[in-house]
Amino acid sequence: MSGPLTATALPRSDLPLPCGPGLFAEQGLPELPRGRGRNRPTRSADAHACADSVRGARLRRERAWPACADLGGFDLPEVVADPQRQSLLRINDWPEWPGSLAVNPYRGCPLACPGCPVGHSDVLHAKLSAADSLREELRQPRYQVRPIQLGSAAEAYPPAERQLRLTRAILSLLNTCGHPLILVTRSPGVVRDLDLLSRLAERGLVQVMISLCSLDEARRGRWEPRAAAPAQRLAAMRLLARAGVPVGLFLAPLAADEPDDGWMALLQAARRHGASQLRVRSSVRDAQRDERIASKALELGLSQAPLTLPTEHFDPRALQIDRPAGPRQSSLF
Ligand code: SF4
Repeated sequence: MSGPLTATALPRSDLPLPCGPGLFAEQGLPELPRGRGRNRPTRSADAHACADSVRGARLRRERAWPACADLGGFDLPEVVADPQRQSLLRINDWPEWPGSLAVNPYRGCPLACPGCPVGHSDVLHAKLSAADSLREELRQPRYQVRPIQLGSAAEAYPPAERQLRLTRAILSLLNTCGHPLILVTRSPGVVRDLDLLSRLAERGLVQVMISLCSLDEARRGRWEPRAAAPAQRLAAMRLLARAGVPVGLFLAPLAADEPDDGWMALLQAARRHGASQLRVRSSVRDAQRDERIASKALELGLSQAPLTLPTEHFDPRALQIDRPAGPRQSSLF
């Protein structure tokens, strides 16, 4: 059953927890205790201590969510929770990463950038079973691993992600099975998931692209009025780079009226904040400007080479569902 609800009003017990088997250990947290006897829940001292520890870790993560990821002064969209299992994997039609797949845990994007090819929506559909559905798809024998782009049709870190953690659950899943990932976002909320991203980065499995269109506030306000300020996204870029996560600038949309010194300043700022990759999506094709950008990127050490992420780490056996007997782990909360 689905129905409208606001993110802040979601009852805790309805929130999907990224708590698949082994996930706690994978996140450096103690595993929850198994039920005893006839699969009855236990509330032993150990269980209480464990639950407190998990709650503590969750609180730390929620604190790590920057307020600037919450649309500034704009109203939060209505959130419609969709608990149905549904196919998530799509062929990605973004030209920047040919041959990749696309996964979107949300439908509708609250950032409402004018000119967005997806279109504006006042309603955010949250696919509550996204991680479980994706797990099933990745386990199919005929599945052939290709990099997954997360957030191709809607921002992967909308304000509701602070509580719903659908994107985080997918990152956990991809980390568990060693799946390559391209994450494109305009939100500094991505820094909450530095722990998982840095683990993916240790195996070279991730590329994060921070999307920005201009350092000029007036121009930025026209093209992406609800997105966090450029300085906040650059700060997120720096944090990612310092955590060892390959990070790049997705310069999009590059407006036809952006002067050369505007995009140059943006390239320089991104490089200073640790970006190593550059992708550009222009609103108007301009071969001469493309050449100037390529030359400036080369000078700054920003790679525009096609992205290659390894596929040999993918292990679908890690996705076996081996639920412990007894109550679902989330029932402890
Ligand atoms: S963030 Fe991306 S998907 Fe969302 S409105 Fe802006 S361009 Fe569209």
